[in-house]
Amino acid sequence: MIPTDTEGIDQAVATGALPGWERVEELVLEAHRRHSGEASGEVADYIPILGAADPALFGLAVVDATGGVHDAGDALHPFSIQSISKMFVYALAIQEHGHETVRDIVGVNNTGLSFNSVMALELNGGHPMNPMVNAGAIATTALMPGADPDAKWESIRDGLSAFAGRELPFDDDVYHSEIQTNERNRALGRLLGSYGRLTGDSDEIVDVYTRQCSLNVPAHDLAVMGATLADGGVNPVTGRRVVSADVCRDTLAVVAASGLYERSGEWLFEIGLPAKSGVSGGIVAVAPGKGAAGAFSPPLDSAGNSVRAQLAIGHLSRSLGLNLFASAPMTRAEE
Ligand code: GLU
Repeated sequence: MIPTDTEGIDQAVATGALPGWERVEELVLEAHRRHSGEASGEVADYIPILGAADPALFGLAVVDATGGVHDAGDALHPFSIQSISKMFVYALAIQEHGHETVRDIVGVNNTGLSFNSVMALELNGGHPMNPMVNAGAIATTALMPGADPDAKWESIRDGLSAFAGRELPFDDDVYHSEIQTNERNRALGRLLGSYGRLTGDSDEIVDVYTRQCSLNVPAHDLAVMGATLADGGVNPVTGRRVVSADVCRDTLAVVAASGLYERSGEWLFEIGLPAKSGVSGGIVAVAPGKGAAGAFSPPLDSAGNSVRAQLAIGHLSRSLGLNLFASAPMTRAEE
């Protein structure tokens, strides 16, 4: 564990602002135009219904921390949120139980193995290690408030809807397609249960997890949800507080370490932003204090990340100056 001593030290923040609305609008349209011709990648089909997605769809949205909105292309086309739900449910779980409890129960380290790995659990004595892979996400879903699965589902749906600023619709077809083919997630749930790391019926928790993955969002909603984490936990469009600023910091740290499957390190190296992707083709990237980008296009690279979404967000990270690790020398007076 990393030694920490936060007693009596207030969290100060170092943030900047995005350029003016018109410049951001211009860059969002440019990023969309420039990458819409990209033709590489394959649409995921291990959840059968996802295989029917139109590979030509491409939406991009940016929401800044003052609530300014920019949409390009298919930014309002809905798709199932899938794995991107993990980061928002994780934020809600920390809000409920606190930094230490969630860190100790779920863990915050990258497993270095695939998102649905059984080996990762076995190698770590049943400890999920990471809330952004399926085992850790199922353990996180189990932590959500609610005496029974329906109540947990309700708190997840309400919480994710608060991040989006509107009631998120549930996609029954996606849910049924996944629930009929998710033996592996059920196996992960049972393995967690066998190690005593899941309270409650594991199949019921996996069912709630599958429901959370079946909430529909367009890229526009992803940008609002991400911008809430960029804005210290206040939804910049509705003005409503969803989680605390500390919860945003904790969530974004974990997302930065493991949001893009096995390419998380490469993503941070090239793009320099906490981001989470999902198999239906969405990516949300968050620039703390500034805003967030949501992108959607179904064709994925071999790691499961949308190709066009990565290109478009990479474009914005560079042109809007969002890379957390980029700096320029300060101007000094001539000697
Ligand atoms: N519902 C999907 C699963 O559990 C989410 C996977 C993802 O988007 O990475 O397999």
